[in-house]
Amino acid sequence: MHSNQKLNIGISACLLGEKVRFDGGHKALTFANKILSQYVNFKPVCPEVGIGMSVPRKPIRLVEDESGVRLVDSRDINKDYTQAMNKFATDKCSNLSGLNGFILTSKSPSCGMERMKVYDADGNLIHRKGVGLFAKKLMESHPNLPVEEDGRLNDAALRENFISRIFVHADWQKSVAPSDLFKDLVEFHSRHKYQIMAHSYQAYRDLGQLVANHQKLDYAEVKTLYFTRLMKALKNLAGRKKHCNVLMHLQGYFKRDISGNDKQELNNLIMQYRQGLIPLLAPLTLIKHFLKLHPNEYLEKQSYFSPYPLEMGLNG
Ligand code: SF4
Repeated sequence: MHSNQKLNIGISACLLGEKVRFDGGHKALTFANKILSQYVNFKPVCPEVGIGMSVPRKPIRLVEDESGVRLVDSRDINKDYTQAMNKFATDKCSNLSGLNGFILTSKSPSCGMERMKVYDADGNLIHRKGVGLFAKKLMESHPNLPVEEDGRLNDAALRENFISRIFVHADWQKSVAPSDLFKDLVEFHSRHKYQIMAHSYQAYRDLGQLVANHQKLDYAEVKTLYFTRLMKALKNLAGRKKHCNVLMHLQGYFKRDISGNDKQELNNLIMQYRQGLIPLLAPLTLIKHFLKLHPNEYLEKQSYFSPYPLEMGLNG
């Protein structure tokens, strides 16, 4: 469940409108600046300025040879920034424990998280499977941290997914990470159960098994396994079919309390949602209405009903 406390999100500085790009410009991301900024504290980083490069500066690129992937001047491969960038990234990434997510700039040889152009020493494009050097270090050193790129955040489903993940990450950091009590993990799993189910039914079952701890694993081990599997599972997009499965489960809680007509109405809304005719909010609102009439402590605490502030306008 999200609290009123602001989250901490790392971000490539040019996405906040800072004029730090090689050409002296920025790449302001409207969603970050207009909407997300109301809920998070941004921690901007410009790795290229961080290693002492000027603004403006000559463009750099990724070049691959027998020594591996290097970050070099696009016109002169002897001007090599690999070591400086790796050192900057290692230092920076060793000090990011308070973050709940990171937004990177696409198509940057420093910040791009995927599909970067990689050249050979003669300047020929050899593939587009590169990763910016800073982004690589960030994702390797913080594999459970939600990370996204500006371009992907323009996609409604990916944006919703990223925002869901950062709020779950924040809840974990606040309520489970600092705790030595198994009950805090049990409660965490209990309140996120249906949200997890909406991303992956298999993960919902696996994580439930892990929390049951039949193997009597050490608590620290259970916590590590749980968090790793949870954050991986949440990367799966929720989608209508999976949401319908969750809605049917929720409907089951009211089977003795609501009339046949009410059941039919909810059923119709779920089917209409499944067909893409109405947004998720329609059946969810009716379920919340039933919940008000027939209180259920277990359901009321489910993060599924409110994975992030409604005002963010993300519900599909
Ligand atoms: S993409 Fe990264 S390195 Fe390039 S200007 Fe933006 S923050 Fe700086």
